[in-house]
Amino acid sequence: MERYWNEEIETMSREDMKKLQDERLVAQVKHVYENVEYYRNLMDENVVKPDDIKSTDDLHKLPFLTKADLRDAYPYGLLAKPLSDCVRIQSTSGTTGRRVVAFYTQHDIDLWEDCCARAITAAGGTNEDVCQVCYGYGLFTGGPGLNGGSHKVGCLTLPMSSGNTERQIQFMRDLGSTILCCTPSYAAYIGETLHDMGFTPDDIKLKAGIFGAEPWTEEMRHSIEKSLGIKAYDIYGLTETSGPGVSFECSEQTGMHINEDHFIPEIIDPETCEVLPDGEVGELVFTSITKEAFPLLRYRTRDLCVLSRKKCSCGRTLIKMTKPMGRSDDMLIIRGVNVFPSQIETVLIDKGYSPNYLIEVDRVKNSDTLDISVEMNPEQLSDDVKDIQEREKELASAVKTMLGISPRVHLVEPKSITRSEGKAVRVIDKRKLHD
Ligand code: ADP
Ligand code: ZN
Repeated sequence: MERYWNEEIETMSREDMKKLQDERLVAQVKHVYENVEYYRNLMDENVVKPDDIKSTDDLHKLPFLTKADLRDAYPYGLLAKPLSDCVRIQSTSGTTGRRVVAFYTQHDIDLWEDCCARAITAAGGTNEDVCQVCYGYGLFTGGPGLNGGSHKVGCLTLPMSSGNTERQIQFMRDLGSTILCCTPSYAAYIGETLHDMGFTPDDIKLKAGIFGAEPWTEEMRHSIEKSLGIKAYDIYGLTETSGPGVSFECSEQTGMHINEDHFIPEIIDPETCEVLPDGEVGELVFTSITKEAFPLLRYRTRDLCVLSRKKCSCGRTLIKMTKPMGRSDDMLIIRGVNVFPSQIETVLIDKGYSPNYLIEVDRVKNSDTLDISVEMNPEQLSDDVKDIQEREKELASAVKTMLGISPRVHLVEPKSITRSEGKAVRVIDKRKLHD
């Protein structure tokens, strides 16, 4: 039986949800216009007044906000509450460029943790569970967000943070952890270490994992599920909109339900900024309608995905988003072809290789080169150079079929690619160093 954290909201009729969003949006636009000079100027420049926004049907009238605006307004320029009302800051992990800081009132922390509690409940979590949180703690939102959600649900919470993987497994065994929260790349590493320590999934009590903060493929999901003996759930969020928990997966696992009572999603064409209909791939844009201290209207996430309103078997009526396939700025353009690292990951895991790989792009004599190093599993090791070369060729041709361009594939020894305890670094684009 599917369990909900907030059944009323999670299964609300579409009409009621729209009414709730309409009311909240109108109030939010007034709040930012009155309290944030940056927004007031932006709206004035675009000739929009708070009175023009009467419901979500008017959302398209508002200007977009980008990461560049956040950097412009750094640190306090978008604050919509007096500092005396703010109790926390968090910051992006700085994967792409300068850090962005976000502010929270106690109300904002509560609603964020509530969103994480919905995710934990959807993954089967209750107050009977022992929830091991191995996202980083500190400025990064992963640890604090899931920690707060786990408390709300009433799980016994292990605030482990990331790192010291053998100790993670020791605690997991000693305390009987049933839920694991971390990045998918760290989950894969924990699975690998469990195996190296001579244990099998039967030696631990884990039943579910809540993994997010970076793109990961279905193939990676299956590989983690197998190595840890769990069901792996996706969770999505970004610091700018609070952190993890903006959307979360349910038992159906065909996309993540967006907490629409707090965040209104739109999909736009990243080039023309035109709003696209459901079902089309585009850039995800969020308007946060309940946050007090750092409310962003029509914030461009740069994450690419698809929205769907198809009925979900879990009973939730919240709109779903597909796993983001990467950010618009993660996309590599190699010899004119658009390439997402996740496409390469799909091929590698599908062909039986480990999720440990590194993509290196360079430019030699005005031509782009693509090198993919992939770790072999111990049982794939071989002294036969010819055999390895054959397998490299086979893999290169599978990648070519997927992408349309030929890479050079290097099969490397087990454990030779650095493991990630947080967000994995999968791509080194050396072309940027030359420019
Ligand atoms: P940074 O931009 O420094 O990485 P954040 O730590 O706030 O800052 O990360 C938010 C970003 O992480 C999102 O915009 C998205 O690109 C990525 N992300 C978060 N969760 C997921 C997920 N489940 N799947 C894919 N990407 C994700
Ligand atoms: Zn569902």
